Amino acid sequence: MSSLLHILRFTRSLTPLYVAVVVCSILTSATTLVVPFLIGRATDSVSGAVSGQTPTDTAVRTVIVLALAVLVAELATTLISNVGGWFGDVMSNRMRTILSVRYYDKLLHLPQRWFDTEITGTIVARLNRSIAEVTGFAKTMSNAFASMLITTAAVLVISAWYAWPLAVLLLVIFPVYVWLTALTSKKWQRLEGEKNEQVDIASGRFAEVIGQIRVVKSFVRERSELEDFSRRFGSTDATTREQSSHWHRMDVLRRSVLNVVFFAIYAIIFVRTVQGHFTLGEMVLLVQLMNMAKSPVESMSWVIDASQRAIAGSRDYFRVMATADDPRTEVLPDAAARLEPVPGAPALEFHHVDFAYESDEDVLHDIDFRLEHGERIALVGESGGGKSTIVNLLLGLYEPGRGSIDVAGHDGRTIPLEQLRSGIGVVFQDASLFSGTIRENIAYGRPDASEEEVRAAAVRANADGFIRRFPGGYDQLIGERGLKLSGGQRQRIAVARAILKDAPILVLDEATSALDTRAERQVQKGLDELMSGRTSLIIAHRLSTIAGVDRIITLREGHIDEIGTPAELAASGGIYAQLLELQNSGRTRALAKF
Ligand code: ADP
Repeated sequence: MSSLLHILRFTRSLTPLYVAVVVCSILTSATTLVVPFLIGRATDSVSGAVSGQTPTDTAVRTVIVLALAVLVAELATTLISNVGGWFGDVMSNRMRTILSVRYYDKLLHLPQRWFDTEITGTIVARLNRSIAEVTGFAKTMSNAFASMLITTAAVLVISAWYAWPLAVLLLVIFPVYVWLTALTSKKWQRLEGEKNEQVDIASGRFAEVIGQIRVVKSFVRERSELEDFSRRFGSTDATTREQSSHWHRMDVLRRSVLNVVFFAIYAIIFVRTVQGHFTLGEMVLLVQLMNMAKSPVESMSWVIDASQRAIAGSRDYFRVMATADDPRTEVLPDAAARLEPVPGAPALEFHHVDFAYESDEDVLHDIDFRLEHGERIALVGESGGGKSTIVNLLLGLYEPGRGSIDVAGHDGRTIPLEQLRSGIGVVFQDASLFSGTIRENIAYGRPDASEEEVRAAAVRANADGFIRRFPGGYDQLIGERGLKLSGGQRQRIAVARAILKDAPILVLDEATSALDTRAERQVQKGLDELMSGRTSLIIAHRLSTIAGVDRIITLREGHIDEIGTPAELAASGGIYAQLLELQNSGRTRALAKF
């Protein structure tokens, strides 16, 4: 329940809409309540005419006026409830927008560690479900139930005026009904949670499988993936059977209790009328009022059902919202503000850095090196040696366990992440493009770049030629993650993107290792342009990629093995020398272990 109140606080800006919905509910209730009074009065007029107490003409005039009044009241109810419905729709849609945007904002700023343990599709499925349940409940409440509740409260007061036992019975049945529903609630929620878990996992796998459909097809795994999906969804059938039978058994009990209470209510009304306490008109009035109160009580169970879903949904929602942001996330007024280098300080310096992804298993030990401005350093070493981890730390995706990283003379921990990252250009092994046009992808780091700047970057990245050959040129759509391009083309666009970003520090994380020799040569031209005049950290499997670097660092099991110029390391007989020898002797297959 508190999580639902939290949603209200979260969507405080919608207060005028909430007020409008409540006002419409109150007005709808008022116009609805007028009708039984009018019909009660009409009944009395009819009974007066039938018993001969009132002249027929007068009675006819009265009942026609009363019937017209009923028409006006019903038209008013129709109008106001529709206006309220409109406010309710707008409100729930605004609510969905606010909740979704805040969730997205939250996800974008969560630490990398959080993403290491979550599955993307599951996150998206959970977001959609939890928000749909919360907004669905808000809509249900606003469209009908709020006015029903207000009507019931009014009925209580009116019936207390005519006969207090009726009000007492109504007052008793409400909490009993809620209590009987609450009895099922704990079990219901547990089962609902189990079902949601299965559906979210299945949706997560679904998104992953569709995202990697080529792998699925090439390993002929469509059928088994489908079976797995269907098994997970199928497992919710048994849970639903249990959940639903429990719910319906309780509903039989609840409604039976309700019907017994309403038997007492109707009996009181009829007996008292017969005894002369009520006129016929009052009897009709009271029966109608009681019927009005009955439907909200009956619908109480589905409202509670919807509210339980909404509570479960809002809990899921806030479980993510309560996760702490990356501590250094800070939105700068000028996101592009570059870090002012401290005079005389190196471009980048790792001071005795230790790091572990999992609590006690260090993957980096005592990493200590510096990069002077404009220097090119290659990181070389066996796979799993910690090269990409060094890049992750440099980008501030994780914090070092011990030691520190200085960028342009500033302690990395004190630099806002946006500023840190806007000073580093990265080209990853997987070009990581987005669906959309080539132009949008090149300008991803600088959406305000001009046409000429985008083109100039593409020319320098050796990409302009192939881009122009596309029918759409720079406006060519490249498919999800750039799947319509070849690996070499994707990579050259990624290089153009980094050139346009124009960051003083450059990281190439195995930028060409997925390419064949020809494509590598084409990308390498672009990379040489990109590196010129920039401090560069280059991770590469192939020694061809690191030709011309100033120094090489070799890593072994998370330790720095050697640091030196290519000539020094070639002579030292260490990892680099071995690699060199392997490559020169053409035993390329043996390279696989590196
Ligand atoms: P390299 O880039 O040299 O191939 P990495 O830096 O990717 O090596 O990996 C170093 C070690 O850290 C490996 O043992 C790898 O399994 C582990 N590792 C990498 N990323 C993660 C992660 N997100 N969570 C846990 N362990 C990781």
